[in-house]
Amino acid sequence: MTQTITVIRGDGIGPEIMDATLHVLDALKTGLSYEEADAGLVALEKHGDLLPAQTLESIKKNKIALKSPLTTPVGEGFSSINVALRRHFDLYANVRPAISFPNTKSRFADGVDLITVRENTEGAYLSEGQEVSADGETAVSLTRVTRKGSERIVRYAFDLARATGRKKVTLVHKANIIKSTSGLFLKVGREVAAQYPDIECNEMIVDNTCMQLVMRPEQFDIIVTTNLFGDILSDLCAGLVGGLGLAPGANIGTEAAIFEAVHGSAPDIAGQGKANPCALLLAAAQLLDHVGQPENATRLRKAIVATLEAKDSITPDLGGTGNTMGFAKAIASRV
Ligand code: NAD
Repeated sequence: MTQTITVIRGDGIGPEIMDATLHVLDALKTGLSYEEADAGLVALEKHGDLLPAQTLESIKKNKIALKSPLTTPVGEGFSSINVALRRHFDLYANVRPAISFPNTKSRFADGVDLITVRENTEGAYLSEGQEVSADGETAVSLTRVTRKGSERIVRYAFDLARATGRKKVTLVHKANIIKSTSGLFLKVGREVAAQYPDIECNEMIVDNTCMQLVMRPEQFDIIVTTNLFGDILSDLCAGLVGGLGLAPGANIGTEAAIFEAVHGSAPDIAGQGKANPCALLLAAAQLLDHVGQPENATRLRKAIVATLEAKDSITPDLGGTGNTMGFAKAIASRV
């Protein structure tokens, strides 16, 4: 039976990188079929809603979505469509691989191959409990960590290690100072780790983790941590390996999973064919792993590496003069 995925073409450079990505997926003969759904500015114009009910229905039905970046208009409705999607589908795991690629302007052209697994639904990023006193002198922000939330994210990290043949999970925390919330995360993390004797587990305080990532990123395999630390660390990791054009991410829940590029809609280069499609392509590789097509995921990643090695049709952000679809065609010719 063919599997259908929801495809959200998005705003700005979104349609360009989505066309490029679907071109490569077609060359891979994945057998996936696509159901298009609107979100973002384009949806606001067409349906009067940034996140229409039919888009949520489509994701609910298909359980898998490939999503281009969306522009959230400043000062309207909810703060972010992406946050709304995460909340609606309880997408508790934010999974971001950071892998060295050749011929990028990064500090680590090789040696980095790690995944950050960030808790996506609780911690310091709650909508409630954010208060500023009437005199504007004091601000209070609630952080909530639960046993359930910690257990499922750490378990996700260990299961991911097993499924991908990775050997080590690092629990990142600040339990020495934030004894309540970070302490609970670490306690539950240790309990879960004990159930995976085949996977090495170590613990690291978040500030030291930042330094270690910059000094010796090769020591990390999978990092699992709470929402705020994971947000910061995963961007740090993207910076280690060449930045936004090469950073994919997955938001995974029990009922749905949404795969996307980490970058935004890049309005400054939209419509010019300059956008690098690799981040969305790498997100598509994560999607292929998730739907049980790991061979196709590997073929796709290898084709991206080979195209970067050859500097074939690479886009201006990587120092080339190629365009979005030309780059995609060069990758497609290698799958
Ligand atoms: P951005 O990521 O869109 O752009 C930052 C810089 O990186 C720009 O100079 C841009 O040209 C460049 N860039 C980004 N992606 C690129 C690519 N694939 N190839 C080449 N260059 C690329 O960040 P921003 O400008 O802060 O945000 C623009 C819009 O995107 C905002 O409306 C924001 O809300 C939205 N946004 C959406 C998502 C998402 O949907 N996941 C994520 C972040 C930002």
